[in-house]
Amino acid sequence: MANRSTTHTAASAPDAPVVRCDEVTRTYTRGTDPVLKRRQQPTVTALDAVSLAIDSGEFVGVSGPSGSGKSTLLYLLAGLDVPTRGTVAIHGIDTKALSERERAALRLEHVGIVFQRFHLVPSLSARGNVALPLVEHGVRKRERHRRADTLLDRVGLGDRATHAPGELSGGEQQRVAIARALVTEPALLIADEPTGELDTETGARVLDVVDEATDACAVVLASHDDQALARTDRVIRLRDGRIVDDA
Ligand code: ADP
Repeated sequence: MANRSTTHTAASAPDAPVVRCDEVTRTYTRGTDPVLKRRQQPTVTALDAVSLAIDSGEFVGVSGPSGSGKSTLLYLLAGLDVPTRGTVAIHGIDTKALSERERAALRLEHVGIVFQRFHLVPSLSARGNVALPLVEHGVRKRERHRRADTLLDRVGLGDRATHAPGELSGGEQQRVAIARALVTEPALLIADEPTGELDTETGARVLDVVDEATDACAVVLASHDDQALARTDRVIRLRDGRIVDDA
């Protein structure tokens, strides 16, 4: 994308998968016992030696019972978090080798993220929300609005550009959130239970939009919903932080 003002300096490897995990383990500290030192606090292993690679154009589902590690995996793939052990590489760049600031720049350049709750800015219009990531990219206002309107058209909300999130339905807000995630033309779209708060019909419309995104980028979709997983090319099934199936 033009006019990008990124701060990370690491060179990406053009032939590398969009994202790759090697023996990735993520543990969290559970306890806060004031008597115990940090290293002695009880821990939970949310992901346990997970390895996978996702290529451009793939539409990958992540499934598994609650607590199996889906959100933890997506946060790591998105570069929002780093592993306790092992490596996550986005475009060949090891996320753990970067500073927080460099990781934010890497995300801005390569990753779009959609959460279950839409996280839109209530005081901005749909257009303003979608255009927001382009401010960081240094894109001028007129061009930001042009690109935001193109994306809103793509998700079927061209006539809602000036509406505030509070004036939109849940399904419409999620489509705005997807448009915002795609406006920077990311190589990787991460969607964590994007239809979790929506009824079946509204969820299906949101999934259509996610599905269409796979034309331009790799998509990783965590879901409990069989209807959503049926649309993907490949489903990674997690249990207790391990991959039990990848097909
Ligand atoms: P899922 O998305 O499949 O429900 P998560 O990745 O959210 O699973 O959680 C995996 C495990 O890690 C669970 O046991 C959960 O309680 C634990 N966990 C997740 N986040 C944290 C955290 N910030 N602190 C402590 N434990 C956590």
